[in-house]
Amino acid sequence: SFPDGLPRVRAEIDLDAVRVNVRTLHGLAARSGAGVMAVVKADAYGHGLLPCARAARSAGAEWLGTATPEEALALRAAGDTGPVLCWLWTPGAPWRRTVEAGIDISVSARWALDRVTGAARAAGRTARVQLKADTGLGRNGCQPGDWPALVDAARAAEAEGVIRVTGVWSHFACADEPGHPSIAAQQRVFAEALARAERAGLRPEVRHLANSPAALTLPESHYDLIRPGIAVYGISPSPETGLPQDFGLRPAMTLRAALASVKRVPGGHGVSYGHHYLTPGPTTLALVPAGYADGIPRHASGTGPVLVAGKWRTVAGRVAMDQFVVDLGGDAAEAGDEAVLFGPGDGGEPTAEDWARACGTIGYEIVTRIGARVPRVHL
Ligand code: PLP
Repeated sequence: SFPDGLPRVRAEIDLDAVRVNVRTLHGLAARSGAGVMAVVKADAYGHGLLPCARAARSAGAEWLGTATPEEALALRAAGDTGPVLCWLWTPGAPWRRTVEAGIDISVSARWALDRVTGAARAAGRTARVQLKADTGLGRNGCQPGDWPALVDAARAAEAEGVIRVTGVWSHFACADEPGHPSIAAQQRVFAEALARAERAGLRPEVRHLANSPAALTLPESHYDLIRPGIAVYGISPSPETGLPQDFGLRPAMTLRAALASVKRVPGGHGVSYGHHYLTPGPTTLALVPAGYADGIPRHASGTGPVLVAGKWRTVAGRVAMDQFVVDLGGDAAEAGDEAVLFGPGDGGEPTAEDWARACGTIGYEIVTRIGARVPRVHL
């Protein structure tokens, strides 16, 4: 049971697990002569940006990676002075503040290079730039056909002292499906992009390609840095990649709730909106006070697993905005008893991967979408 004063639902974050995971990844990278960029975007995949960034640094992450400039600037505002790469840019972004903060800016296109050089001139500083190649993901990054022109323009700006090209990098599409033909193809395109950058006279300090699945399964893709996100939080990128424990990773987030109601109902009782669950006989229903406003997927209706009173139960009927119901059958419980939605799994609770399977999604989404209304308790 919860003692007084604990919230109805909370995400406990085991920072020791984050540190262990980063050390484990560091050991893996070191075998290839690489370092670690811990990816802390999206509030550290829902785990809390600053505590996780500090934990990752303390466990040896040389670099931190963010998507948005606001995330990178939040690291600086909190006193982080180490190398940070930020990769999701739009024309109206805080280019100058980011240059002034000494944050590495990813550049995928000529317009972005122009923004960086403009901001660097205005700030009277040399901007740190990492050129991103699209080696096959088809998302951000410079297409191979446009790469030579981008590289040459960056080299010219570097010769002028406006920027320094600190990195060349790319991102995998299918590294979580070992053996997928795009993996080798992307590595070939990356090697060509690097060779072209070097022929232009660029001497990047860091070349990097490997997200979590590549960090775990493809040492030849490690280059100078691995760039894991999900593995830092102890979750496997995909069932094909393996289980967290196969790699010595420990899930960091445990989502716990206190039951809000436990009551007896007769058989044939409809449960939650739409009455998609009918009690098969007289039974005990427990109310878990967490819903889709808290990030519990509505797709978990009728499928999501929850540990209550020592057993796995399944979400009965629809997940509502703030709450859902589980059927305890003949088992006893009372309001205030604990429901564990997911965690490392070693206390018998489901894992984020179990939730992902139940909802037709990925573990990434399960942890990242946990809402702002759910307090994070860092242990
Ligand atoms: N690098 C980039 C550019 C990303 O967008 C992400 C996350 O999607 C990562 C690295 C980390 O990926 P993962 O969480 O699979 O390790």
